[in-house]
Amino acid sequence: MTTGDFSQNFEEVTLPGVDEGEILVIRSTRRKKSISAYRQGGRIVISIPARLSKADERAIVPEMIAKIRSQEESKTPGEADLIARIDQLLTELAPEITERPISVTWRAMRERWGSCTSVDRSIRISDRLKLAPAYALDYVLFHEAIHLQYFDHGSEFTEVLARFEDSELASAYLDGYEAAERALLAPVELERI
Ligand SMILES: [Zn+2]
Repeated sequence: MTTGDFSQNFEEVTLPGVDEGEILVIRSTRRKKSISAYRQGGRIVISIPARLSKADERAIVPEMIAKIRSQEESKTPGEADLIARIDQLLTELAPEITERPISVTWRAMRERWGSCTSVDRSIRISDRLKLAPAYALDYVLFHEAIHLQYFDHGSEFTEVLARFEDSELASAYLDGYEAAERALLAPVELERI
């Protein structure tokens, strides 16, 4: 298939306070003036006109990142909400687990969905879940909360986790998200399809 005069140029951007690989700037010859930014997979993709100067890019990119983040922040449960939700899930589904987390924090994690340190009762949740449907976030919260009591994924752990009703749906969401992220690792290849 022909690509005509259409060409794109992908550029990873690293800025203070931004994780490596989180920002992807696309210079597109198709774009004349407009700039768009959106979240795709774990990344913020910013599409700018090919002709935009480097100086303008440097000014605009952080502005677009801030816009996306503040949009997301307003829709994201805070850490106190996460603690409250875990309490609710444990109370409803696993009343025998009386431990409660001391802290539940959002973390930029690309490899894992969550982690739990039972010694200090801290839980970390991947910020890729910030805009996830409630059942997917609940599933990860519940999974990590069970680790407060059961360290490994043994039979006691799986028996408790199985009480979560939407686990198949949640697993499908998380697997699908990961598949999309893997596909995004080669955006230039994708463009040629
Ligand atoms: Zn686990």
